[in-house]
Amino acid sequence: MKRVVLLGPPGVGKGTQAGLISEKYDIKHISTGDIFRANIKEGTPLGKKAKEYMDQGLLVPDELVCDLVEDRVTWDDCKNGYLLDGFPRTVFQAEAFDKFLKERGEDLSVVLNIQAPYDLLMERATGRRVCKQCGKTYHVVNMPPKIEGICDVCGGELQHRSDDKPETVKNRLKVYEDQTSPLVEYYTNSGRIANIDGSKNFPEVFEKICALLGE
Ligand code: AMP
Repeated sequence: MKRVVLLGPPGVGKGTQAGLISEKYDIKHISTGDIFRANIKEGTPLGKKAKEYMDQGLLVPDELVCDLVEDRVTWDDCKNGYLLDGFPRTVFQAEAFDKFLKERGEDLSVVLNIQAPYDLLMERATGRRVCKQCGKTYHVVNMPPKIEGICDVCGGELQHRSDDKPETVKNRLKVYEDQTSPLVEYYTNSGRIANIDGSKNFPEVFEKICALLGE
């Protein structure tokens, strides 16, 4: 049973690696960003609240996030393990989730901390395109689809996420630095972190991750 956290700034390739990891190890990929985006699309009350923050590149308040994840990891599809992508994002969330795990006699298997230099993160995040239908991510230069604007997998239309615009990405990187990067120290102190160089290409990063997670 693997319980993995993917930690890293916007644009570092968390989503891409998460897809590969969840497939190889057969563990559920849980992206809080995807959950919020699905709620926005459906126009739910949670989606309406989250949108106000997301459009500005700000974090959604902790109380809207913690309960959601604590519920989600107890679903049947997480029986074999899960991979959290985009959660926790604050020390408050990390502490709350640790408390939740502890009460269940559980712990995280590992926190994969993926890092890359600022300019590369800007380039990756602003060039990202996401399939409207299935959520697969591409990059206009590094990972283009076979036909421009169309998803290779499902034929859906690719879109530029509204929070992947340069000004919003700048905000998201600042928010990461201020609110999420303290988690590196938090998880290092409890000996659960593995640092990974995310400036390498995606297959190389994945290889490193597999070496850490085992066969
Ligand atoms: P992501 O797709 O992970 O980059 O998330 C997109 C946006 O969703 C973030 O910029 C936040 O506004 C919001 N979000 C996702 N996960 C969290 C979280 N754990 N805590 C607070 N806000 C979040």
